Amino acid sequence: MRISIKLKFSLFLAVLLILALGVLSYIVLQGVEKNQLTQTEVYLAQHVKTVNLRVKQTYYTGTRMEPQIFMRQRGRGLATELAGFTGLGVTLYDAQGLQVGTSIQDPPVVDQQSEVNAALAYALHNKIAYEAVGDTLLYLAPLQGPEEQMGVVQLQYSLKSSQSFLRTLQNLFLTTGIAVLLLSFIIGYLYFNRAAAAIGRLKKAAEDIRRAEYIQAPPVRRKDELGELAEGIYFMSKEIEQSIAAKDEEQRKLQLAIHKLQALEQQQKQYIGNISHEFKTPLTSIKAYVDLLNMYDDDPKLLLEAKASIAKETQRLYEMVEKVLQVSALEKYDFESRAELLEVAEGLRDVCARMSGKAERFGITISCDAEPAHIWIDKESFMHIFINLLDNAIKYNVPQGTIHVHSELRDNRVRITIRDSGIGIPEEARERIFEPFYTVNRDRSRQSGGTGLGLSLVRNLVEKQNGSITLLETEGEGSVFELSFPAT
Ligand code: ADP
Repeated sequence: MRISIKLKFSLFLAVLLILALGVLSYIVLQGVEKNQLTQTEVYLAQHVKTVNLRVKQTYYTGTRMEPQIFMRQRGRGLATELAGFTGLGVTLYDAQGLQVGTSIQDPPVVDQQSEVNAALAYALHNKIAYEAVGDTLLYLAPLQGPEEQMGVVQLQYSLKSSQSFLRTLQNLFLTTGIAVLLLSFIIGYLYFNRAAAAIGRLKKAAEDIRRAEYIQAPPVRRKDELGELAEGIYFMSKEIEQSIAAKDEEQRKLQLAIHKLQALEQQQKQYIGNISHEFKTPLTSIKAYVDLLNMYDDDPKLLLEAKASIAKETQRLYEMVEKVLQVSALEKYDFESRAELLEVAEGLRDVCARMSGKAERFGITISCDAEPAHIWIDKESFMHIFINLLDNAIKYNVPQGTIHVHSELRDNRVRITIRDSGIGIPEEARERIFEPFYTVNRDRSRQSGGTGLGLSLVRNLVEKQNGSITLLETEGEGSVFELSFPAT
């Protein structure tokens, strides 16, 4: 059975109160009773003194006689007289314990008499004895004679008033005790109700955290241990929320990395497939010519054709191997870049001059207008990049075509454009031309000794030099490539 914490605390408080009130009432009542007895003793001792004085006075003023005889003759009268003095019931006994006079009308009942006799025997030995019989206290004290004890006086004292005082006191303790107890229980219950409500809110907060519903503020605001606990739970919730968010972020990054790796693996597979294909084509052609020569080794026309074709395919193979090696070296190692400060206009003019010979052979003119600007770049990479781009601009140009190289400094970056009047790049190929082995027109590319690796190599080199390359949208014919590098 589940007992709520507030009920437990309230019951505990009630038990504590009962214990405290019980002990307190017992001690007070005992004290009062003891005090009453002492006062009665003092009061009765006083009367005994008076009685002794009166008895002595009567004995000495009358005719001289034996104390025993005096007691028997005068006992009755003295008892009545002394009762008048003291206002108490008085009974006198002689030295043998025989009752010689009493002022009491009703004699004690038989079973009370035996208790009286025991006390009397004690008092006959010159000692004080008392005995409570019902609501009456019998006080027995020795009566002193001329030489020795000549009897015993018994004073009868009513305990009614002190007993009723004690009972009133007891009732007072009981009623106030019960009232205090009830009141304390109610107040305690209400107080613990507040604490229990706070504990309930803490419990709910813990359950919310378990369900990953993190709390946004301490569930309880108090300046005690419960308040501190609430703050502790709030901070714990925040920590858990943050670390779970960090874990989720890590997981997201990991997932992203896995996707990238998968894409890379796919790319790698495609790359290897393409390489094998690209290498097979010239090799098949070479092998075919070798087979034909083996069969018709005396055919001079075939020999000439074979020499030319084998030379062309070998050159293509050589170029391909060269570029593949360059691309894979770039992908594998972070080249130790020998960056140096390059004057862009000077570098571009140099490349244009180098390529103008080839351009002229195809009737193409190269023009170059470059603003003076400086960039940090590996000079060899710079040459590779622009030779490849100009080579493409020549390869995919039209007879009597033009190539225009322009550079300017804008927004702290050097922007270089290479515009040609060539065949252009169709919309659907724009995204793919930077992929290794991608060619728009395989035959045209092959005719001009292309491998589909040039732009892939260019982009790698540009990015290694902190630059970017994009193919711009063109309205007319031809293509425009824009490169951008941070200016120094
Ligand atoms: P390739 O060795 O075949 O020239 P690239 O990687 O340099 O390989 O270029 C990829 C493809 O992009 C080329 O096959 C060609 O179809 C196209 N291309 C590149 N530059 C130009 C250009 N200036 N004009 C038209 N097409 C181009």
